Amino acid sequence: MKIAVFAGDGIGPEVTAQALRVLDVLALPDLTLFEGDVGAIAYRRHGHPLPQETIDMAKASDAVLFGAVGDPSCDDLPRAHRPEQAILGLRKELDLFANLRPARTFDGLEHLSPLGAERALQFDMMIVRELTGDVYFGEKGERKNAAGEREGWDMMSYSESEIRRIANIAFDIADQSQSYSACIDSVDKANVLETSRVWREVVTEVAKERWSEMPPLRHMYVDNAAMQMVTNPNQFGVILTGNLFGDILSDLASACVGSIGLLASASLGERQTEYGTFGLYEPIHGSAPDIAGQGKANPVAAVLSLAMLLRHSLGREAEAVRVEHAVEGILADGVFGGDLGGSASTEEIGDAIVRKLLTIS
Ligand code: NAD
Repeated sequence: MKIAVFAGDGIGPEVTAQALRVLDVLALPDLTLFEGDVGAIAYRRHGHPLPQETIDMAKASDAVLFGAVGDPSCDDLPRAHRPEQAILGLRKELDLFANLRPARTFDGLEHLSPLGAERALQFDMMIVRELTGDVYFGEKGERKNAAGEREGWDMMSYSESEIRRIANIAFDIADQSQSYSACIDSVDKANVLETSRVWREVVTEVAKERWSEMPPLRHMYVDNAAMQMVTNPNQFGVILTGNLFGDILSDLASACVGSIGLLASASLGERQTEYGTFGLYEPIHGSAPDIAGQGKANPVAAVLSLAMLLRHSLGREAEAVRVEHAVEGILADGVFGGDLGGSASTEEIGDAIVRKLLTIS
């Protein structure tokens, strides 16, 4: 089993280090780790945020464990050299079109949610975000408009096949999962956007093909979905949405459950390996330059990303569950960093997870 580890920038290396300690405790046989450069660190060392050797390393692996990229010192670089191009480039190069972002309130954290404990306890959903299309990957540029002003533009589009394949992933999850209700909410902005109109029509077609009875599919406008997520989260099971809306809704979801430092993600494509589905696993947060190097980063999202890697790419369900139970255990014990109103450092949270893991068989 081969895992490529790309820790990246800012808090990326800090949180990834804790995930690697957890992996070490699991002592999986026949596991090899490879480390590669991405982001600002890669730009400084190789002159590019996503060097070819990093791409090759990812392609030769069964899974990628990713930290985060982004560095304010690179803000003025041309777009192609900015650190964020590393993660966008990897998603595209590896065709990782399906981003799974589970969001739920952990026991013991309900009182920390801005939703209040009662609503927070209802929060348990899977956000299925399309990851290789939409306005993020369309043509973009700057031009002069008719009045002679500078004007930025970005092309938003989704093809039928792109919509169809992500819709099928969401339906698979709703179909197979016991955790999420068998209801899918497809989130778009079909009242305004042509991209969303086609999205809505294709998702409806997929639903009709897949379900013999009335499909348990609802369409919801993204503005309403954001409001409903806060006011009535209980109604959501699987949320299927595009790249831009999924990005925003998952950050909102993270705030609802207490902290962005808690939400993990899996980015999957179609490639199968000997052990499972090839994927890239990363916290949903970024490089958090405001707290980098201070031991303030919550490593839980990185550790839970490792659990998703074990499950989806290495076929190690038992170990994935062990890691998840260890995280749930330390949160129930009240081991919190500053993001959750506590004082534990990144490393102390890692210590607690490792200790808890050793008590779980
Ligand atoms: P961010 O997620 O890095 O940080 C947002 C806020 O959340 C900050 O206040 C930060 O301190 C806090 N935060 C984030 N992760 C945390 C953690 N684990 N523990 C405690 N607090 C945490 O988002 P941003 O500030 O908008 O972006 C910073 C940089 O990261 C930018 O360069 C951005 O482009 C990049 N970014 C990268 C990715 C990625 O690598 N996949 C994703 C999002 C943003």
